Amino acid sequence: KEEVNIISGALDLHKKTVKDVMTKLKDCYMLPIDSVLDFETMTEIVKSGYSRIPVYEGHRGNIVTVLFIKDLAFVDPDDNTPLRTLCQYYQNAVNFVFEDVTLDVMLKQFKDGHKGHMAFAQRIEEGDGDPVYETVGLITLEDVIEEMIQAEIVDE
Ligand code: ADP
Repeated sequence: KEEVNIISGALDLHKKTVKDVMTKLKDCYMLPIDSVLDFETMTEIVKSGYSRIPVYEGHRGNIVTVLFIKDLAFVDPDDNTPLRTLCQYYQNAVNFVFEDVTLDVMLKQFKDGHKGHMAFAQRIEEGDGDPVYETVGLITLEDVIEEMIQAEIVDE
């Protein structure tokens, strides 16, 4: 029964898009790049439970890098390190994908390592002038796998 579900989930991946399964930008736990890695902020980051945290500059739609929890391993909260300093040191890449990409394609990109295991969904806003890209959410490999096995993965 479960195997049948997984197979039909895999076969249906092309019917769903990034937009259908992403975490919306407003629900993302993110940090402004001008944060200071003091005790309070570091506690909050650890409590969030996420292993990757988008870092934005100015407004939340402007994601400039990603902070990995493991990047905090050598950070002493007493040093009040600016997040910007740490981000400049690690320079973790930000991967973008269009929100209407189908999940079979997204899975292949994650699998081939082209998009890390997290990507930011973008929408093209057609206005009067040049089209502008708007970031609308994030998607991880876990979101695609959940769709494939048609079940929630319970986090540790
Ligand atoms: P983690 O390793 O942090 O648990 P996963 O890749 O396992 O992240 O994703 C678990 C779920 O959490 C997915 O639905 C993903 O979209 C969402 N997610 C991942 N990072 C964040 C974040 N920083 N803020 C909000 N949701 C996130």
